[in-house]
Amino acid sequence: MGPPGAGKGTQAEVVASRLGIAAISTGDIFRRHADLGSELGRQAQGYMDAGDYVPDEVTNAMVRERLGEDDARPGFLLDGYPRTTAQVDELDGMLCDLGSPLDAVVLLEVDGEELIDRLLKRARTENRTDDTESVIRRRQEVFAEQTEPLVDVYERRGLLVRVDGEGDVDEVLARVLAALPERAGNGR
Ligand code: AMP
Repeated sequence: MGPPGAGKGTQAEVVASRLGIAAISTGDIFRRHADLGSELGRQAQGYMDAGDYVPDEVTNAMVRERLGEDDARPGFLLDGYPRTTAQVDELDGMLCDLGSPLDAVVLLEVDGEELIDRLLKRARTENRTDDTESVIRRRQEVFAEQTEPLVDVYERRGLLVRVDGEGDVDEVLARVLAALPERAGNGR
């Protein structure tokens, strides 16, 4: 978890590769479908471009299907999901069905000014349609309203691991790996 620009996607990929598990990014899946022009992509595109969340039913169904794929069996790292309390409930059900509880929830913490800088830089290099200033602002609002409350939910469950997300990719990676509990594959 983390606000837009915290480095979730970058860290999810390197951490999952270190742990030998699948990185599952809902944002990447939506973007891929949007590029392909699939039905799911068409449903998601308008919400993404506006900086809003794709409706829970659409997102949940997509994640349920993805978690059922073979490469997710040994374990997985979810990037950008869950983002709403309804998604937390749905994920609880999926994990119960899979018999695979969460080991940890990593929260990447980055200062607000640094986030804007990173996002504007990414807008120049990655050509994401949702990295314009007004959409960035909307994504921050949506995060604060809908996703920040999840920090408390997972903190109360004793799963939250707070990691300082400032610094370069390798520094943050080292912090994430050091902070992960052993059951999440740390020290493998
Ligand atoms: P991300 O790449 O994680 O920043 O996601 C980009 C966009 O995809 C978000 O702004 C949402 O529009 C959509 N999205 C990604 N994950 C979710 C989710 N868990 N729930 C709803 N929408 C999502």
